[in-house]
Amino acid sequence: MDQVKVGVFLSDCGKQLSEILDFNALTDYVKKVSGVVLVGRSSEFWRGKGLQFIVDAIKDGKINRVVVAESLPKLSEVNIVQAVENAGLNPYLVEVIDLKDHCAWPHRKTPSEATEKAKAMLLAAIERAKLLEPLEKLEFSVLKSALVIGGGIAGMQTAVDLADLGFEVHLVEKTPFLGGLATRASRFFPTDDCAICIESPVSDVKTITHTSRKCIYRSGFSEIPNMNILTNSKVVAVEGVPGNYKVTIEKKPRYVNELKCVRCDLCTAICPVKVPDEYNAKLKTRKAIYMNIPNVHPPVYVIDESVCKFHDCAKCVEVCPTDAIELDQKSEQITLNVGSIIVATGFREFDSSIIKEYHYDDYPDVMTNLELARMIDGFGPTGGVIIRPSDRKPAEKIVFVQCVGSRDRRYNPYCSSICCMISLKHATLIKSAYPDTDISICYIDIRTTGREHEDYYERAREMGIKFIKGRPTEISRDTETDRLIVDVEDALLRKILELDADLVVLAPAMVPAEDTKELAEILGLELGEDGFFKEYNAKLRPTETKLRGIYLCGGATFPKDAPTTSLHAHSAAIKAVKFLTTGKIVKDQRTAVINEEYCGDCEFCPVTCPYGAISLEPTTEEHFVAKISDLLCEGCGVCVGTCPLNAIELRHSRPKQMLAQMKALMSINGTSKPLVLAICCSECGHTAVDSSGMAMMQYPANVRVMKVPCTGILQVHQFLEAFKAGAQGVMVVGCKSDGCHYEVGSQKAENKVELTRILMKEYGIEPERLEMFNMVFIEGDKFAAAAQTMTERLEKLGPLPTMGGS
Ligand code: SF4
Ligand code: SF4
Repeated sequence: MDQVKVGVFLSDCGKQLSEILDFNALTDYVKKVSGVVLVGRSSEFWRGKGLQFIVDAIKDGKINRVVVAESLPKLSEVNIVQAVENAGLNPYLVEVIDLKDHCAWPHRKTPSEATEKAKAMLLAAIERAKLLEPLEKLEFSVLKSALVIGGGIAGMQTAVDLADLGFEVHLVEKTPFLGGLATRASRFFPTDDCAICIESPVSDVKTITHTSRKCIYRSGFSEIPNMNILTNSKVVAVEGVPGNYKVTIEKKPRYVNELKCVRCDLCTAICPVKVPDEYNAKLKTRKAIYMNIPNVHPPVYVIDESVCKFHDCAKCVEVCPTDAIELDQKSEQITLNVGSIIVATGFREFDSSIIKEYHYDDYPDVMTNLELARMIDGFGPTGGVIIRPSDRKPAEKIVFVQCVGSRDRRYNPYCSSICCMISLKHATLIKSAYPDTDISICYIDIRTTGREHEDYYERAREMGIKFIKGRPTEISRDTETDRLIVDVEDALLRKILELDADLVVLAPAMVPAEDTKELAEILGLELGEDGFFKEYNAKLRPTETKLRGIYLCGGATFPKDAPTTSLHAHSAAIKAVKFLTTGKIVKDQRTAVINEEYCGDCEFCPVTCPYGAISLEPTTEEHFVAKISDLLCEGCGVCVGTCPLNAIELRHSRPKQMLAQMKALMSINGTSKPLVLAICCSECGHTAVDSSGMAMMQYPANVRVMKVPCTGILQVHQFLEAFKAGAQGVMVVGCKSDGCHYEVGSQKAENKVELTRILMKEYGIEPERLEMFNMVFIEGDKFAAAAQTMTERLEKLGPLPTMGGS
């Protein structure tokens, strides 16, 4: 290895810092540190002449490690690192520290103490720089193709966006037809347009006219050449890494050849098997061979294998003029190689039969909103006439019941967000067609939070629809009149009401699509407590997941109305396009590495890694060794902190680098107060220190900050090493547990701190000397207050004699 030659560059930020810090003393000090061969001083080193000075020193071979003290390193570091790389030095051999916000500003009232602290900070940076190792930049290929799972509004829209931009797209839908729930909705609020038209994506590129909508079968959707639509199909396995996923699809037999079927309807006419038509709220029957609606995609029949008599009947085979019926079709497994995966699995209605007091399964005249939508549809099972299913007489009195299974801690505590609007839509559509219908809506709160939604509610009131504030307790049936009775307490009138009704319409909660859990396991994605897929960040990255290349859209993350779903779908598409376009992922090697000799195949680390980056590979029949994917590893170090055998290290935060920094920070005090080591995570913790400095909040200069990628990297022995190095107290400063940038790191650190405190007590060391502080990055005041509190506490406790404290 070449001799280490460190160049140290001190920026006084246009003399702002030299008014507080003694730069002559700093320069003299640094010059004497072993390994330092060049010291520069300027008003800035992140651009202009200052940066050129660094570049020239590298090009002349004078230095091979760079330490820069510069303000706002989070901004300036990018420039410095790029220039270092352009000059021919490995860019990972650079250390940038902030003498302004971490030293001069917060200690400006005690300049000599600040100068001594600055010396310790520079020494720590130099010692770390000496131990840095060159890292590579890695490239991983990305296939320019995508898989979209779910063929409802969201899935179809995302698929079209991607296909329009030239990517190969596979759209997989588990049912025999595209469209999802929306095909049953009849109309969409608040404009009451035809749901089938609105849900159909229009290909902006392939269509000549820029119409806002077209029915699904006229949209040109199915003719897009780079789109492969697989219905009756589901994802059963996913292997590989972002950019290169191998997906196994199980395609169930349709028993009808899609290329031969001409939709003549002779097969459905002859089929002898009749079953309730679930698509049409069981108000109609269908045959064993069927299509759910005429303008559906694919426009091809399917045989329901749960009721078909197959070769015992085979009448459809006999009549089919194109030999399209293939009763011997089998399930097939299809393998797809894709770069990206978009999950658009949507939601479904909660099973209302779970709420026994509403008797959904017992009374035919209790139905759900989705079932009512089929009756409202002019092409539906009753031709748009609203009837009582029990006797098919017109329904003259209708009661809607809101929040069935939602906003209810027994089932789903959340508000499903769209059911109030759905009930308002149905109530107003019925009232428009049949003005004499008596309609009441029992509600907890009516929520109308979209554009024109409140107008919709106002219109319903004007039309004479009654609103009763209360959740019904029971639906019963009057055996004499055969009418339904809804018991509800009107919270506004403070009166118990018994509402009689021909029809009771439940507004069930919207819950995750079936198989959501199974798919999450296959993809390695997390679900929220509500059971929907969890976004990477609901506010900033609402369509991303923690896995690169896998995106979410539409109701897969939470129930949404059509406009929001569409917006979400476009967002997921653009994220996928950004990922796919370059054809490669460039990633640095700031990742974890396993020392295979030490690995005891305990299996802790694969379970702990929040990114699924660790797998166990067999070495013998009985033994495994942990392996880390450089592509998946995000370099948090949580595995390092977890491994009981110290078999894992981060290439850019090795224990020896951290120990050297610790010792250096504790080597100079310069104050009369006890030294405190503040180990801060690189996200909220370290940025909270920045925030306190920027706001010139004051805290004592005995507090020394050491940055780690995530506090989850820390191990018990490192706290003890800090005390041994001279710290009288240790603060661990991380993100809030539920807001950790690496998900579990803060929680892991808290556990480690607790464990160490127990050990400390055991050995007669006051556990109060070690504490975890959780904060968000803007809470600079919280950091300053914690530093002050810790110092005062240690002053009261006195020195730490057992470990050789100063
Ligand atoms: S935690 Fe350590 S010992 Fe256990 S499997 Fe992972 S690397 Fe091996
Ligand atoms: S450093 Fe973090 S992301 Fe990488 S393997 Fe370890 S736990 Fe996983």
